[in-house]
Amino acid sequence: MRCSRCAAPAVVDQPYRGAHVCADHLAASVEERFRRELRRQLPGFGRGTIAVALSGGKDSAVALFLAHRVLAPRPRVRLVAISVDEGIAGYRPRTLRAAAKLTDSLGVDHVIVRSHTELGTTTDRTARLTQGTPPCSYCGVWRRRLLNRTALAEGAAAMILGFNLDDLAQTVLMNLVRGDIDQLGRMAPHRGGRAEFVPRIAPLAQVPEREVFLYALAAGLPFDHAECPHASRALRNRFREIVWELESAQPGTRQALLKARDRIVDGSTGGATERAPGRCGSCGGPAAGTICRACEFLRSAATATPLPGTA
Ligand code: SF4
Ligand SMILES: [Zn+2]
Ligand SMILES: [Zn+2]
Repeated sequence: MRCSRCAAPAVVDQPYRGAHVCADHLAASVEERFRRELRRQLPGFGRGTIAVALSGGKDSAVALFLAHRVLAPRPRVRLVAISVDEGIAGYRPRTLRAAAKLTDSLGVDHVIVRSHTELGTTTDRTARLTQGTPPCSYCGVWRRRLLNRTALAEGAAAMILGFNLDDLAQTVLMNLVRGDIDQLGRMAPHRGGRAEFVPRIAPLAQVPEREVFLYALAAGLPFDHAECPHASRALRNRFREIVWELESAQPGTRQALLKARDRIVDGSTGGATERAPGRCGSCGGPAAGTICRACEFLRSAATATPLPGTA
């Protein structure tokens, strides 16, 4: 199979646009989509700090690499990478090593925040104590809290996440299936922040996961393939399969889900901005109710009774 744009062999097909592309044209089109989305999600940004949430996996590695390529030439823009150590043995230490390797090679500041120090607990520990609750529910909420707090402390105007097209399409479908339109409005990319909330943006939103992976490999980026030991319990895995099946049957489904999200959110807010969160009565951070979900989970974890032999 030849590239649709030159005579070189194709490395990936793009059924959603009826094309096959070679390694060079893939790299160029990933970069082009990243730049376009960055401009769309963060218009006119020329001065200040941008944080990048860096897990050490392929998506955030590509997001940091491209953010650095686009923003490093701007003298008044500072990039800072933030990694969260949730305390997951056999997984997070490896990904943090990959993250540090990348920031060292790019010369980007790197802050690592640890759940153990900041929250007084870890994902592994809470998983042992509360075996009925899927770990991703609190782990993701706590990670967002730590990322937001650290980005605020760094004075960041926005935080780049590595979410790719597949991740976002899955999140849209999960929220639609739950009928949770409010959550649909709160998911990244955000269009505005508040004093206690750094807006999260996703410049890889138009790039499918497979293309992000191929880009990371071709660019020789250090990243870790390790899978979190708690991931098998995540509901997201079901949605990953469903979105993949839908996309195979009808190419372009993922982009359509993202468009649907934008139209629903615009329709429910009059096109102004997403519904702004309130403040948590306990920690002062952003919250949909009277206390934020991070504090709710911390309270349940603190009152959980250790199961025999698990403390
Ligand atoms: S897969 Fe779940 S438990 Fe593992 S790091 Fe991600 S959110 Fe946390
Ligand atoms: Zn080509
Ligand atoms: Zn709180």
